[in-house]
Amino acid sequence: MTPQPNPQVGAAVKAADRAHVFHSWSAQELIDPLAVAGAEGSYFWDYDGNRYLDFTSGLVYTNIGYQHPKVVAAIQEQAATMTTFAPAFAVEARSEAARLIAERTPGELDKIFFTNAGADAVEHALRMARLHTGRPKVLAAYRSYHGGTEQAINVTGDPRRWANDSASAGVVHFWAPFLYRSRFYAETEEQECARALEHLETTIRFEGPSTVAAIILETVPGTAGIMLPPAGYLAGVRGLCDKYGIVFVLDEVMAGFGRTGKWFAADLYDVTPDLMTFAKGVNSGYVPLGGVAISPAIAETFAKRPYPGGLTYSGHPLACAAAVATIRVMEEEGIVDHAARLGAQVVAPALRELAERHPSVGEVRGVGMFWALELVRDRETREPLVPYAAAGAANAPMAAFGAAAKANGLWPFINMNRTHVVPALNITEGELKEGLAALDRALEAADEHVA
Ligand code: PMP
Repeated sequence: MTPQPNPQVGAAVKAADRAHVFHSWSAQELIDPLAVAGAEGSYFWDYDGNRYLDFTSGLVYTNIGYQHPKVVAAIQEQAATMTTFAPAFAVEARSEAARLIAERTPGELDKIFFTNAGADAVEHALRMARLHTGRPKVLAAYRSYHGGTEQAINVTGDPRRWANDSASAGVVHFWAPFLYRSRFYAETEEQECARALEHLETTIRFEGPSTVAAIILETVPGTAGIMLPPAGYLAGVRGLCDKYGIVFVLDEVMAGFGRTGKWFAADLYDVTPDLMTFAKGVNSGYVPLGGVAISPAIAETFAKRPYPGGLTYSGHPLACAAAVATIRVMEEEGIVDHAARLGAQVVAPALRELAERHPSVGEVRGVGMFWALELVRDRETREPLVPYAAAGAANAPMAAFGAAAKANGLWPFINMNRTHVVPALNITEGELKEGLAALDRALEAADEHVA
């Protein structure tokens, strides 16, 4: 329902926010959060009555849009019957959610450990891998994001840390393939793939295979730029893990639950990890939920000896009821296939056409409802439109792009020199085209900063 404009309430909400809410990833005095009055489907409204088409799905999680009536009703019904119950008990919403998830995960990932979000799923996956193998180290990719908690932020490759931030022992980073900005001087996907695998195997051997518990990768790195791995890379990593007895962890927190036009991105590459993390799309983020899907071999380690970890709200019935309803809605409405079709038939051609006309677009890449435009000052040199981690005046070109998008009714996802096209998976074709037209106009602002 479109909320009535009410600037006075909006101002009060904003004032209380500014006074008391400490925001993630932000310099508290340099931000200006929009006060949101309501949201439905792919749109949200501010208190002045402005409507925005959400090309971000929140933080890439409202995969079935805002306020889906069936999921809202399922949460209400669960709240009316059993709002919460401790994780040691078998509870219908929890066991049903686990069953529906396990049925869809690749291979034999049949046991589900529930967490509250993505980061704690990563924490537990890495803990399980260390306990299972008895080895201390974890290898993780630069250009990755795995979450904001201790271990998850340390495996995350993004180097924006303070000097006095934590640095956990036993985390080793390597370069995963990314042809557009190849670290391997590769000119083809095949070269990039082969050299990235050679680099990873060398890293394993120099670290000592018997010290490496896990390799963790996002199946398709999301926050760092939606970089689809070349054909054969993930199968190659799977092979290295098997060769050296290493646990293969795929992080599907962002790429999972239909984002790529498959239930899981691992399905695109026909690869099965030993542990797979998920969150976000599992219930469209209506109630916080994440988890780890576990292989039989790792589950066996904890069959007779207790797994020494857990969470008070593990498998919270409200969150699990939302997951059950979300997965059913995705099946009933054919949302995964819809995302695959619109991605291939609408987004791909439209973005490639934008790249032809806008000199600021350096590369277009993606699949399903998971796309990135890399904006550059110079297509030849591939110099990013703004320097790495730019702030203030240095970030003016991306700020201009963002402002132009919003002026055209589009809320864009912006990270560094990239904009990601990551709308709800059930966005309609008409809404999608409206957003792509607004993106076209916003890119004109970016073009003005091309060298
Ligand atoms: N892994 C990946 C791949 C993610 O994209 C994210 C969140 N963007 C996380 C982990 C962390 O999830 P959360 O913010 O729910 O803790």
